[in-house]
Amino acid sequence: MRVLVTGGAGFIGSHTADALLARGDEVVVLDDLSTGDAAAIPPAAAFHRGCVADPAALATACAGVDAVVHLAAVSTVPAATADPDRAAQVNIVGTARVLQAAAAAGARSVVLASSSSVYGLQPDPPWSEGCPPAPISVYGGSKAAAEQVAAGWAPSLGVASVVLRYFNVYGPRQRGTSAVPGFIDAALAGRAATIHGAGDQTRDFVYVADVVRSTLAALDLAKALDGLVINVASGAAVSVTALHAAVAGAVGVSVPPVHAPTRRGDPPHGAADVRMLRAALEVRDPVPLTDGLARTAAWARAGRDPRGAA
Ligand code: NAD
Repeated sequence: MRVLVTGGAGFIGSHTADALLARGDEVVVLDDLSTGDAAAIPPAAAFHRGCVADPAALATACAGVDAVVHLAAVSTVPAATADPDRAAQVNIVGTARVLQAAAAAGARSVVLASSSSVYGLQPDPPWSEGCPPAPISVYGGSKAAAEQVAAGWAPSLGVASVVLRYFNVYGPRQRGTSAVPGFIDAALAGRAATIHGAGDQTRDFVYVADVVRSTLAALDLAKALDGLVINVASGAAVSVTALHAAVAGAVGVSVPPVHAPTRRGDPPHGAADVRMLRAALEVRDPVPLTDGLARTAAWARAGRDPRGAA
């Protein structure tokens, strides 16, 4: 199978491209390198540098593909808040154009990355896929809109689609200042990490290898699961304070955190109902947080190789 991975130079995308190649698929990457790293792209993948909102770039990248994994996005709450126009153009219009280009190329299926941010202020976690979206950020709103684009565009275009709501993904190759890389960087430098808010907010941290196998399962089952939205998470939520303590254990350095005000767009809870992930995608036995953090800390300590394995 020939698969286009949009955002294949990014954290999740580069691991996804590796996993597809490892099982014998051909991989094409479309990425504008806005947050991704060309050095993370597997050498065996064909690479096109371009934007997912650009129909010409998409037409070139989609030529001959059987399926698309659509990961390219303005991928964080702070980045989308800083540039809402770009978030709309890339996350919403880009999703529509990816679906159109996939259909025009004759692809059978598209798997799309959404986010737990669509749940936002939804009360009573754990959240199942049937809970109505209640986003409280530009990012969450753009992802909720992209889900609706997929729901409307895909059947009309004749492409099977599966939406995956990733929760808080972490692992080797992740960059930036979100909780896991931020806490690991601080611990390795022996300085205090910053926790926004009291630290009692909960999140579901899911290891990148579990996200990749969920994504490949969705790709393989896309025809049978056409139109479904599925949470991708570990099923075990922890507080940010507990995560900080777990990172201290993984790195072997414990420095008390400092607290800063809660950031706008940060929901108070995040816990996933993973019954559909287990039943429909048959993804079970997630990597335990302590193991995933140990692997991630080892990768960071060893110099943050952009091709470092999960
Ligand atoms: P990332 O920033 O590492 O990867 C995104 C990739 O998309 C980057 O390589 C970037 O250069 C590329 N990109 C951005 N805009 C583009 C455009 N207009 N055209 C082409 N390429 C473009 O982020 P990630 O963590 O790997 O996230 C991948 C996907 O998963 C995103 O859709 C993100 O919203 C979603 N997601 C991630 C998490 C997480 O915790 N990492 C959680 C929920 C959802």
